[in-house]
Amino acid sequence: MAVVGAGIAGLVAARVLADAGCAVTVFEKSRGPGGRCATRRSEVGPFHHGVAGFGAQTAAFRETLAAWQAQGWAAADAAGRWAGRPTMNALARQLAEGLVLRTEHTVRPPQRKADGSWQLATAEHGTLPEPFDVLLLAVPAEQARPLCADSPSLLQALAGVHGQPCWTLMLGWPPGAAAPALPDAARVAASPVLDEVVDVSALHGAAPAADPGWQRWVLHATAAWSTAELERSPEDAVAALLAALQTVAEPGPPWPAPAHAVAHRWRYAQVAEPAAGACGWDAALRLGSCGDAWGGGAAAGPEGVERAWLSGRALAQAVLAGA
Ligand SMILES: Cc1cc2nc3c(=O)[nH]c(=O)nc-3n(C[C@H](O)[C@H](O)[C@H](O)COP(=O)(O)OP(=O)(O)OC[C@H]3O[C@@H](n4cnc5c(N)ncnc54)[C@H](O)[C@@H]3O)c2cc1C
Repeated sequence: MAVVGAGIAGLVAARVLADAGCAVTVFEKSRGPGGRCATRRSEVGPFHHGVAGFGAQTAAFRETLAAWQAQGWAAADAAGRWAGRPTMNALARQLAEGLVLRTEHTVRPPQRKADGSWQLATAEHGTLPEPFDVLLLAVPAEQARPLCADSPSLLQALAGVHGQPCWTLMLGWPPGAAAPALPDAARVAASPVLDEVVDVSALHGAAPAADPGWQRWVLHATAAWSTAELERSPEDAVAALLAALQTVAEPGPPWPAPAHAVAHRWRYAQVAEPAAGACGWDAALRLGSCGDAWGGGAAAGPEGVERAWLSGRALAQAVLAGA
């Protein structure tokens, strides 16, 4: 079996299948697992520059988080927002432990062979020698569509699913600098530009030995602003987001300029309207789709990470039920 994508959804699907005795290979285009549960290393310490913290609505996910917490893989802050520990992508690395994971393998549109198996090719390594009896796509909808062109039902379900972009700013102040106070959440919420500003150094921190002690913030722009300003240069985005941050600053003396300011553009950060159903499984083709593109339908359903986890688990269960 092949799983494309080593974000939370792909890793959970692969884990459930591997635990049931299936031979599974996970293909990931990046250098490591995690996807949008991302950690950016820098000389001033790590930044959770993808999801900064996530919620847990369902009992099943809360139970899993409690188990991960007991293993030291995840922790919640005072507001009940969860994150991987010591870094966001460490959670993914833990989930990937023991799985066959091939990184730097960007899967191209697959070929279905006459015997019904899937032949894969990757951008980096060309055609892979081994065929796969099952192919699971654990990638955002935009990246899944070209890979599931053989399945009208999956294409139809994913047709209206779109990720919203998010400009992200990583800021750092060195130890000893008079770093500013985190702006009040209500002032941030009133901003047309800013969605959230999170002190990632204080929230979950890094392994103490690896942390050079800088105060580090991650700022996420709103989906509306990020969409309108998608084609800005990173330098322009830094300037615009720093200006927006000044407008929500606590009253007082001007802030010391951050010594580290780097912008990152996520083209597909969060899905506003996921497809209905927990996952997509085309039993005839033995082709499936999971991830945060799924789990829609409920008025205020779970957020992205939880949907990805629920979806990966549901798809693996569908495969096992049909095996
Ligand atoms: C800035 C930001 C803020 C967010 N805030 C929140 C929040 O507050 N709460 C919340 O719950 N969620 C939030 N999210 C969303 C959350 O991170 C995602 O919903 C979740 O991580 C999705 O997991 P996934 O496994 O479905 O997809 P991903 O994490 O995107 O994993 C897909 C993987 O597939 C790989 N891939 C893609 N195409 C290919 C290919 N052709 N071949 C091989 N590999 C491929 C990618 O590299 C990636 O690693 C946020 C995300 C971002 C970026």
